[in-house]
Amino acid sequence: MVSFALHGIGVSGGIAIGRAHLVSHATREVAHYTIPLAQVPAEIERFAAAIGEVQRELEGLHAALTSGDAPGEFGAFLDVHWMILNDPTLSEAPRRIIAEQRCNAEWALTLQMGVLVDQFEQIEDTYLRERKSDVLQVGERVLKRLMGRPGTLPAPSAEEQTILVAHDLSPADVIQFKQHHFAAFLTDLGGITSHTAIVARGINVPAVVATHNARSLIRDGEMVIVDGSNHVVIVNPDRSVLAEYRLKQDEFELARQKLRRLRSKRADTLDGIHVELHANIELPGDIDQALKNGATGIGLFRSEFLFLNRTGLPSEDEQFEAFREVAVGMQGMPVTIRTFDLGADKHKEELDGLTRVAPNPALGLRAIRFCLAEPRLFLTQLRAILRATHYGNVRILIPMLASASEIDQTLAMIARAKESLHEQGVPFDPNVKVGGMIEIPAAVLAMGAFLRKLDFLSIGTNDLIQYTLAVDRSDDAVSHLYDPLHPAVLRLLATAIAGATKAKVPIAVCGEMAGDLQLTRLLLGLGLREFSMHPSHLLGVKQRVLQSDVAATAALIERMRRTDEPEKLGLILGRLNG
Ligand code: PEP
Ligand code: MG
Repeated sequence: MVSFALHGIGVSGGIAIGRAHLVSHATREVAHYTIPLAQVPAEIERFAAAIGEVQRELEGLHAALTSGDAPGEFGAFLDVHWMILNDPTLSEAPRRIIAEQRCNAEWALTLQMGVLVDQFEQIEDTYLRERKSDVLQVGERVLKRLMGRPGTLPAPSAEEQTILVAHDLSPADVIQFKQHHFAAFLTDLGGITSHTAIVARGINVPAVVATHNARSLIRDGEMVIVDGSNHVVIVNPDRSVLAEYRLKQDEFELARQKLRRLRSKRADTLDGIHVELHANIELPGDIDQALKNGATGIGLFRSEFLFLNRTGLPSEDEQFEAFREVAVGMQGMPVTIRTFDLGADKHKEELDGLTRVAPNPALGLRAIRFCLAEPRLFLTQLRAILRATHYGNVRILIPMLASASEIDQTLAMIARAKESLHEQGVPFDPNVKVGGMIEIPAAVLAMGAFLRKLDFLSIGTNDLIQYTLAVDRSDDAVSHLYDPLHPAVLRLLATAIAGATKAKVPIAVCGEMAGDLQLTRLLLGLGLREFSMHPSHLLGVKQRVLQSDVAATAALIERMRRTDEPEKLGLILGRLNG
């Protein structure tokens, strides 16, 4: 077996050694995995159930049409879909594929759709050839049902670690894989602060993205070493390399254990400055890890993850239960709930009808823009958050604010949500703090309104860098341009922190920069006193805080602020960390 190495971007540190498990994705992000023989009947059953659900869906649509005054061609169109759905080539063939290839139902259906589309393309008659799109639409309906109720991934074997190898993974995929205890992730695509990378970091497993062709070069079952700290993947290592990495793995684990001793130590610098170290979480279950790593609060609860990996939208009660769980679990420590930031790379199919396929999703109807355009959904969530304020120290954080009028509209919505709860006699904290994320350069350049109207601020450096440098954070083709140390980024950070400090408005950083050890002293020097990061980074950053003397770095920081020569910045940073 040939041994070879691949290079990518290590987005989550540590070393994993295990067997490759390939996950494929078709155009619509359809996962492909093998299933154990014993699971075949259940998988066929899952497929049959999805077909049944779509049958009922089409029947429902038909009934609604016939009772209304819709034009007759809609009925005919539904009849065509009904026929396609019930044709054995679509409803039966995938069952055979599941059994023969021992693959998941989504994949079997995707394969069969490919076969059908090829057949349609051969047809001479234009009308019939165009029915290809109907086949695709029906197939998509079934896929949607299947994906709303994901199948079970093969359990990792007890004695061997499993390394997931995929062309690309969505943040929702990674959250779903979370329960399966994979040892590491590898993807062909992805950028350092893509949400996929962020979630992988949260799971605390090594991950390397942007490997370009790992998915096509690595075969199922091959031995793989993933070194997330050094951005490298070694496939089929020889014995000596394997031994060397096992040693490194032990050393890494030892260092991690040592850090655990810092868990309940106060985060004070050598010159006595206290720093709050908060955790970023995606789901309520993440608070265990936050507490284990000594978080003194939740600085960012990315509430949009409650919307992913499920059919339909979460109700007010469901959201409230999730928020209350975190509020109670954090025992009085601050819990900052960010209102949902859907759009861009966090996609929710049910909302497609409300948005439309944006030509440029990162600049489109995302985050607060979407919430203000869909007040009903926003009010539901605001009510849920407000109700949770009664059970702990909950604050509201608004993403992607760009202007004073957006702040005003948001505050008006919060007032409306409060009013409705008040009328119903539902308890909540009327003085709940409302903060805004600084993620768009405009927010820093016109910060006065933010300082006057909001109770606290949190800098989302992942987006701030993306929007300052016009570099898509999830596109590996431009990841070399994604530079947290770009003088423009540093200047914006310095301005925001200084402005907020002067106005006595608390300010945090909750983007990935907050968890980067190389940047801790820089951020402290710029005046930052509140950091929020993935729980896995908390203890490392705390150790760095404990070893830092902020006053002693003042001159170096001043030089960094003044220079716009990247090489000099690099040198000064080296000295700062030396
Ligand atoms: C950020 O942009 O830095 C941030 C924390 O928000 P998200 O990564 O969820 O966009
Ligand atoms: Mg953001």
